Amino acid sequence: TLQAKMSRPVQARRLEGMDKNIWVEFVQLAATYSKVNLGQGFPDFPAPDFLTEALRRALGGGNHMLHQYTRAFGHPPLVKVLAQFFEKLLGRDLDPMTNVMVTVGAYQALFCCFQALVDEGDEVIIIEPFFDCYEPMVKMAGGTPVFVPLRPNPPKDGKLMSSADWQLDPAELASKFSERTKAIVLNSPNNPLGKVFSRGELGLIAELCVKHDVLCISDEVYEWLVYDGKQHIRIASLQGMWDRTVIIGSAGKTFSATGWKVGWAVGPDRLLQHLRTVHQNSVYHCATIAQEAVAQGFQRELMLYGKPESYFVQLPKELQQKRDWLVQSLDSVGMKPIIPEGTYFLVADISQFKSDVPDVPSSDEPYDSRFAKWMVKNKGLAAIPLSAFYSEAHKNNYTNFIRFCFAKEEATLKAASDILQKWKQEKTS
Ligand code: PMP
Repeated sequence: TLQAKMSRPVQARRLEGMDKNIWVEFVQLAATYSKVNLGQGFPDFPAPDFLTEALRRALGGGNHMLHQYTRAFGHPPLVKVLAQFFEKLLGRDLDPMTNVMVTVGAYQALFCCFQALVDEGDEVIIIEPFFDCYEPMVKMAGGTPVFVPLRPNPPKDGKLMSSADWQLDPAELASKFSERTKAIVLNSPNNPLGKVFSRGELGLIAELCVKHDVLCISDEVYEWLVYDGKQHIRIASLQGMWDRTVIIGSAGKTFSATGWKVGWAVGPDRLLQHLRTVHQNSVYHCATIAQEAVAQGFQRELMLYGKPESYFVQLPKELQQKRDWLVQSLDSVGMKPIIPEGTYFLVADISQFKSDVPDVPSSDEPYDSRFAKWMVKNKGLAAIPLSAFYSEAHKNNYTNFIRFCFAKEEATLKAASDILQKWKQEKTS
């Protein structure tokens, strides 16, 4: 009889070493053990009423065609309003049909970028720590990631560190650019640190991109979440950058509705035309009705632009309060926070809690990862180890930090704080 079992290898070579995923692992751990989940980045408060009402209107409004396919590269009302919005932000005319593409979350916009723009053997510069998917996405496209770190310069006056204290070394950054460099990935405001790159830092990156004729994949999903009056500067608006930059955004982050998975890419047609080729041959388009509702959300924001009622004005205000509350609370138990300038993440130093989770020197797993697992299992508090945001080669460089998400209801943050207070008391008693 014929053997039914296959003996040949089934896995495509491009998947080698990519089976592990931090989110799959830590989301599962949080689901199993956490009482309070400050791990994965999503709000536990409701999306704004105007957005959910827009979805309800789209459902009940009598346009049954909203349940059918729409234009592949973006539902027309959404690409139109995104073009209008970004015209304002970038100070240049945009064609909704060629300068904007709607994707299934920022995730798919990133995937389209790497598939469309990175070739076998191309190098792509990634700034560490980074949103973890950049590395496998570059590799799946046949490219080689080249890492350059943000280096911490702790303030000498005993003050808390800020995400601004994590900086690129200009010479080190310059040394990573070569003829093989095809692109650099920029993520400002940065997940996980919350760093908002300054004009000077962006200028340095832009200069190197122009000098070496390199593309910039600019992940700006946290563009509205910037605190203390800081400004988010779009690298595409710097000299020579529009033609070589793809801006990536997310309605999930922008409107506190991560489950909708609506994202976008904005850029010159000469780049976006290739993203469209990937998109039309893989995903084709994302849910029409979600795009319709997001379009209406943007219509509202366009009308209220810069006004106090604008969600893009209100959300960062509320989140800044949550940030300040969590900073204060972590500081009071000695889990020293690095104050983020943007995003809804905060990285904290776990050194003072290490005695409860002893090191296993021979372990291949970074200490912070074992710490985060121990913490969710034994204390019911979920967070993400900072090492998850480093390449394999550098994941042991910083193992004393974990990342919290503070886009949470007051009660959730309070519950997290209670766990830490109690833990601290148990330790010292
Ligand atoms: N980029 C960054 C930096 C992110 O943090 C995230 C979400 N955690 C994404 C992209 C993906 O966004 P989306 O949910 O819209 O796919």
